[in-house]
Amino acid sequence: GSTVEVDPGVEVDEENAEDDLLGGLKVESTGDIEVPDRLVDQVIGQDEARDIIIKAAKQRRHVMMIGSPGTGKSMLAKAMSQLLPKEDLQDVLVYHNPDDGNEPKVRTVPAGKGEQIIDAHKEEARKRNQMRSILMWIIIAIIIGYAILTVNILLGILAAGIVWLIFRYTSRGTDAMVPNMIVNNGDQRTAPFEDATGAHAGALLGDVRHDPFQSGGMETPSHDRVEPGSIHQANKGVLFVDEMNTLDIRTQQKLMTAIQEGEFAITGQSERSSGAMVQTEPVPCDFIMIAAGNLDAMENMHPALRSRIKGYGYEVYMEDTIEDTPEMRRKYARFIAQEVERDGRLPHFEREAVEELILEAKRRAGRKGHLTLHFRNLGGLVRVAGDIARAEDRDFTTRDDVLQAKARSRSIEQQLADDYIERRKDYELQVNEGGVEGRVNGLAVMGEDSGIMLPVMAEIAPAQGPGQVIATGQLKEMAEESVQNVSAIIKKFSDVNLSEKDVHIQFVQAGQQGVDGDSASITVATAVISALEDIPVDQTVAMTGSLSVRGDVLPVGGVTHKIEAAAKAGCTKVIIPKANEQDVMIEDEYKEMIEIIPCDNISEVLEVALMGQPEKDSLLDRLKSITGSAFEGQVSP
Ligand code: ADP
Repeated sequence: GSTVEVDPGVEVDEENAEDDLLGGLKVESTGDIEVPDRLVDQVIGQDEARDIIIKAAKQRRHVMMIGSPGTGKSMLAKAMSQLLPKEDLQDVLVYHNPDDGNEPKVRTVPAGKGEQIIDAHKEEARKRNQMRSILMWIIIAIIIGYAILTVNILLGILAAGIVWLIFRYTSRGTDAMVPNMIVNNGDQRTAPFEDATGAHAGALLGDVRHDPFQSGGMETPSHDRVEPGSIHQANKGVLFVDEMNTLDIRTQQKLMTAIQEGEFAITGQSERSSGAMVQTEPVPCDFIMIAAGNLDAMENMHPALRSRIKGYGYEVYMEDTIEDTPEMRRKYARFIAQEVERDGRLPHFEREAVEELILEAKRRAGRKGHLTLHFRNLGGLVRVAGDIARAEDRDFTTRDDVLQAKARSRSIEQQLADDYIERRKDYELQVNEGGVEGRVNGLAVMGEDSGIMLPVMAEIAPAQGPGQVIATGQLKEMAEESVQNVSAIIKKFSDVNLSEKDVHIQFVQAGQQGVDGDSASITVATAVISALEDIPVDQTVAMTGSLSVRGDVLPVGGVTHKIEAAAKAGCTKVIIPKANEQDVMIEDEYKEMIEIIPCDNISEVLEVALMGQPEKDSLLDRLKSITGSAFEGQVSP
């Protein structure tokens, strides 16, 4: 188990913890919550990843972390650096090599020593320069004195000038003695943490600057042009690389060499620069590597590098959600306190504001009884809300600020969806009243967190040959499958053989990228039945749900966002699968706008959606005789 369970340091009302959105935390605001010092104790959820980080820090192992952005990968990597011993830290100095100017020497000393060495060298150089100038002035004085004696002023001045130039010109030689400290850990209080995400080769592996004056005494000595890479600065600490696959293969190969050898010589990375002629002695780079990314990143990583990490370390998957328990909610409250303190300028959050954020974490989980672990986005919301309160100079951030922040920090998809709804209103593509045959207001999800109303139209025509399902676009497959399922049901109550008909399915303006209409099969079924039986569909109703071949309505994803989209589009009723009932976490403002009707099977759906007695009643009677228990086993799945 984990050794780092930290209590927020506040009293907890255990009795009411279950029902309380703050898990029974007795606080007025997040200001009352204590934030742990160590980063590793601030990490919420991700128990497995955290345990591995603690273990890997002790054993000095590499770690690969795979998971969604904003779940704490870099936070954990940084936390690891705080767990590493700082006694091991070193300074690295690069010296001029008198034997070969293009091969600077490298020396490693304990942290803090580097500064002393540089100071000593500078002092020595200063003294030497002083001696030289004294010597120079003595010589010049002798020359000028002799010139005056021999009345040869012009020649004297000339000779003095030459002496001055010679001294001037060669004084650079003394600068060359001062080493260049490329890694300075003198003031470092923890082991280094280097984030090399998206770094180019030079930044990652070190570089030697180009020198425009390559000769003639104006040049900067090569050891002074050496620059460390992240791998060197991460020596004895942590090197974090997110999106590993974006590093080019050659760089990944070099990185692997660095990991294997524990040291890596610095050379100029750009081939045409004078820096490419310079190569230092090996520079230590004994770091722990934390490679991160999504699954895709792992697959596109250099296989040897991957197996290196695997063979000498751990791989861990980051969770996206976590079970919603009172203890977790208390931690979420602490999360807000953490973010407020980290930012430093935001007012603390009132209890009601915390509640709203925890509700939002529930909503964003998109999974029953869970909270989202996508903390970066949640942290963004905390900052936007806090900024609203700060702009008004208030002492605390309120629930209202959180609601406003949510409206402001809509994702691109949400903005697109809202914009889309507006535009459709203009073109009157939206129908939210009256009855229309064969037209159903379906619902879909766009991106991760926004719903959109997606009307479906069905038309049935006699087929010339064998009947076909005619649908367009990316939703064709789904349409075919839904029609197939519904035709199995239709066979039971109707004489019409759908396989002799052409069924046209049109998704009104579904050309939008990123629309996932997979869960629209009850919509298609309802549209087809309505068209077939000439019974109008109530346009105040929107629906989502998946249909089984038996007529059951199966659960779908994103119900909360879909319901909100239906309400925004002006519908007053929305049908959802009964099994999704607990996933509904719509905001209060929508609760009054729309009635949610959970349904178990297609006859319940039609009961709500169809209009026009007595045709509807007759259809429902026929349907009811075949759905429910009597329906079981009659249709082969
Ligand atoms: P990743 O590297 O997975 O993309 P980060 O570690 O950069 O995500 O997370 C961004 C920010 O979100 C962190 O700095 C921290 O404030 C917050 N955060 C992310 N994950 C967690 C977590 N598990 N617990 C607490 N805060 C978190």
